[in-house]
Amino acid sequence: MDYSRVQQENCIACGLCQLKAPHLFDYDAEGIAYFKPDHNQSVTPIPDSERTAFKAAYQQCPTHAIQHQKGPFQICNTNKNA
Ligand code: SF4
Repeated sequence: MDYSRVQQENCIACGLCQLKAPHLFDYDAEGIAYFKPDHNQSVTPIPDSERTAFKAAYQQCPTHAIQHQKGPFQICNTNKNA
């Protein structure tokens, strides 16, 4: 299974990924993108029905902020209350 997340420090809030894959990407209050199905926590795989849309967003992100890999990403959560 393929998982995704947005490396948010590299996102320039251009809006392209949400246009290409509106079911997969959304923006926080500052316009920075996140992977919508799991709020960028890398616990939900990319649905098969969204693969084409994901590919378009992934390939066209101008800063390569969108990541994907076969398994979940290791997310460092510094919020102890989460
Ligand atoms: S396409 Fe890339 S740079 Fe643009 S909003 Fe999405 S993640 Fe950020």
